[in-house]
Amino acid sequence: MNNSARVIILGAGHAGGTLASVLRERGHTGPITLIGDEPYPPYNRPPLSKAYIQGKTELGALLLKTPDYYQEQQIDLLTGVTASAIDRAGQQLILTDGRKLAYDKLVIATGARPRELPIDGIHLDNVLALRTARDAEQLRARFADHGGHAVLIGGGYIGLELAASAISMGLSVTVIEREPHLLARVASEPLSRFFQQQHEQRGVRFVLASQALELIGTDRVEAIRLSNGDTLACDLVLVGAGVVANTELAAEAGLTCDNGIMVNLHGQTNDPDIYAIGDVSARPLPLYGHRIARVESVPNAMEQARLAAAHMLGQEQPKPEVQWFWSDQYEFKLQIAGMAFECDQTLIRGEPASGKFTVLRLRQGVLQAAECINSPVDFMGAKQLIASQQPLDPARLTDLSCKLKDALPVTA
Ligand code: FAD
Repeated sequence: MNNSARVIILGAGHAGGTLASVLRERGHTGPITLIGDEPYPPYNRPPLSKAYIQGKTELGALLLKTPDYYQEQQIDLLTGVTASAIDRAGQQLILTDGRKLAYDKLVIATGARPRELPIDGIHLDNVLALRTARDAEQLRARFADHGGHAVLIGGGYIGLELAASAISMGLSVTVIEREPHLLARVASEPLSRFFQQQHEQRGVRFVLASQALELIGTDRVEAIRLSNGDTLACDLVLVGAGVVANTELAAEAGLTCDNGIMVNLHGQTNDPDIYAIGDVSARPLPLYGHRIARVESVPNAMEQARLAAAHMLGQEQPKPEVQWFWSDQYEFKLQIAGMAFECDQTLIRGEPASGKFTVLRLRQGVLQAAECINSPVDFMGAKQLIASQQPLDPARLTDLSCKLKDALPVTA
């Protein structure tokens, strides 16, 4: 791409916002337009279910860059603006207000939205989901106004973080989970058990292996009917049942999509002038045999922004990064390194009862992922071991007198 190329980034979230600044930092001098349908400049979503909902931080502290930054860097930031179509033949992005913006390179960073459950009563008042700062503000206000009993549908990370926030704000909380254990899709059983115990000790109730069948109420939700036969009275329902990628514009424009817009390692779609990055994209993972996955995390959004920027500018590709993620619940900081695809061995390093331990997930002796509770040193070591892709000695991995990073076999 030459230096006068017009770049349009659709979606002013973590991926889109990062890409705009990385393009400028790496020397692109041509026009950059960053378009988002939310009313704010790009901001950090992770605190929404943690400090922000509890009123411990303000939106200004969540912004990726100050509002002035975009003007200073000549990034044309259009907030509160929605795109409705991509005209690939004419290389234009069409906005809902009828405007047509020409591009040389288009980057789709439209993220994902909460999955809506196909059950009766889902549109009743006081049934809420969390994706945006506005959602979090609404939730915070309802927590404060109504108190009472909140039912959370979905025992994934966002559901559990919300449970921790709600109980610390004085609500009584029940979590409904379809699977027999929490975090079923995304964590090991020891970690799932640990979090269940911690939440139960603080008063959260769980109904596992059960689904929400119906929400009952006249205007406001008053009760929830479950597949185990129970009906629970409630004042508020929070739906945390996963997300759906915002792929519609891409699919309508003929870009290949399969649970995400399909991209190569550089973020390029099947149209070489269109890239897709962040939660909306399905990308190859070089450290996992180039398996394709849609990864929903801030570190992934930032890595893909860096990869796409380097490719667009014809610069050297950054080295593949070990995927990582974090979650904060009560006084526990979970950091996960890697991804646990098809693991055949689970080791526990340290004692879960101590509140500081690491679960190691291996395949054929090679570390694939590590779940570290209050163990930042293990987390850093695990990233190195995962990147090495070398078989490791289980005895050294669980020996607390040996730092995790020192478990690498010495090469002659
Ligand atoms: P987003 O940040 O969602 O941005 C996409 C933007 O595009 C949105 O503003 C959307 O409104 C806009 N958009 C969509 N369609 C259009 C259109 N047609 N026109 C204009 N604009 C459009 N990740 C972690 O790593 N750790 C965590 O602890 C963590 N906690 C989280 C807690 C919560 C409550 C949530 C919601 C997410 C959390 N995540 C966490 C996930 C992380 O925030 C996402 O992976 C990250 O935001 C993805 O960035 P993105 O730019 O791909 O998508």
